Amino acid sequence: MSETNPYMMVGERVCMDFINTVSWRESTEKRRDWFTSYAKLVDWSVHAEVLTVQQAQDLLSEADENPSKAKDVLKQAIELREVMYRMFKRISKKTSPNEQDLARFNESVSHFYQSLQVIQDEDQFILKFKETDALDTMLPPILQSAVDLLTSKNELGRVKQCEGDPCGWLFFDTSRNKSRRWCSMADCGNRAKVRRFYQKGK
Ligand SMILES: [Zn+2]
Repeated sequence: MSETNPYMMVGERVCMDFINTVSWRESTEKRRDWFTSYAKLVDWSVHAEVLTVQQAQDLLSEADENPSKAKDVLKQAIELREVMYRMFKRISKKTSPNEQDLARFNESVSHFYQSLQVIQDEDQFILKFKETDALDTMLPPILQSAVDLLTSKNELGRVKQCEGDPCGWLFFDTSRNKSRRWCSMADCGNRAKVRRFYQKGK
């Protein structure tokens, strides 16, 4: 949640960190979207190790030449992010995603999975997205992270929403006894501790 560290990654899955690129998600006054430009999306993608520095440089010069295309990709990324946010939020509350969101998500799956291909990697074969210089090339791996999580066996119960209000961040709880409650102990966890302390004092 920290404003000072804009690239806090606490989601434990790329798709969760992608969803968490809005600070104070559930607050109308404090809500702040990190993706204020295509360059920010690219910058975050490098930090998330979805893009290499070289890829990012190429994309940014491509975006300079096609600013309207870059703007479209940014819009598309934000739309996909919000669909994923609503879906995983409902999952964290043990309810099903709504149909329109799942349908919208599946449109992205159909679109991006077209570029999947089997390639030889030494003595084995792997399924990978074709590397392209398209401006939206950071989206397939993020989408795949969400698909992997959605289709995982017995792992969806680990999708949680931070109890800090109005944080709204989602994370994948990797703790052994599934006891994690906060996006970060240093932020929301600490605020809750301070609140408890003052309530006790009263
Ligand atoms: Zn939080």
